[in-house]
Amino acid sequence: MPFLKKYPIVADYIPINTKRRSGLAVSPSVKFIVAHDTGNSGSTARQNVNYYKSSANATNASAHIFVDDKEIIECIPALTASPEKAWHVRYDVTGDNQMYGYDANDVAIGVEYCFGTNINATEAYKRYVWTLAYICYQFNLNPQTAIIGHCFLDPSRRTDPRSGLAVSGRTYEQLLLDVKTEYNNCQNNNMKMSLIRISNSPKVYAIGGDNKRYWIFNEETFNVGRVMGLWGGLGEVQVVASDSHVDGHAIILIK
Ligand SMILES: [Zn+2]
Repeated sequence: MPFLKKYPIVADYIPINTKRRSGLAVSPSVKFIVAHDTGNSGSTARQNVNYYKSSANATNASAHIFVDDKEIIECIPALTASPEKAWHVRYDVTGDNQMYGYDANDVAIGVEYCFGTNINATEAYKRYVWTLAYICYQFNLNPQTAIIGHCFLDPSRRTDPRSGLAVSGRTYEQLLLDVKTEYNNCQNNNMKMSLIRISNSPKVYAIGGDNKRYWIFNEETFNVGRVMGLWGGLGEVQVVASDSHVDGHAIILIK
């Protein structure tokens, strides 16, 4: 079943063979997700990734993905290439071993939520929820059990992502419920994806629907993950090909 690809994931990796990015593969496989926030109010995904890249040999600390209101940036491969280890939970805490049987750094994807005054909390939260749901889908994880906040793994030192979510007026408990809903909604059985052609246009567009709403993209809006309004009625479009991309998004063809 495809998964609705609502947002692009930008790969912008930290240099390999550095303290922040060893290049070691996640092993044996991705088993769970650690929900983090940056702990740095107002800092964007771009700023955090740039900082990690520019200080790649400063320390063994990293995370896979940063999410803000505009971007989802992956700086350690997780979704955009074979998953590698990141250093986002101390090895000498024991909660991860007790709960999942592994050290988080060996098998967990670390996802950072950006928050603060210059970040649109609703947009950032939507992207964060979707990213967590999409990781569950990609690695066949149960969204009800596979996500754990950093604050539960390292309670003496960490408050994330509770603290960052609170700044955005959200709770950790609501986050888990919203991820589960998103996980289900993005795999709606009724969702069909097709390539369509507007009869009076030389362009071929992509459309998807779940019988409740429809998504139409052109090349520009697809690249930034922003859905266009319904352009004309469905009766005006001609289906030219079925689309069943594994990722659940349709590819735009400009003819
Ligand atoms: Zn954290």
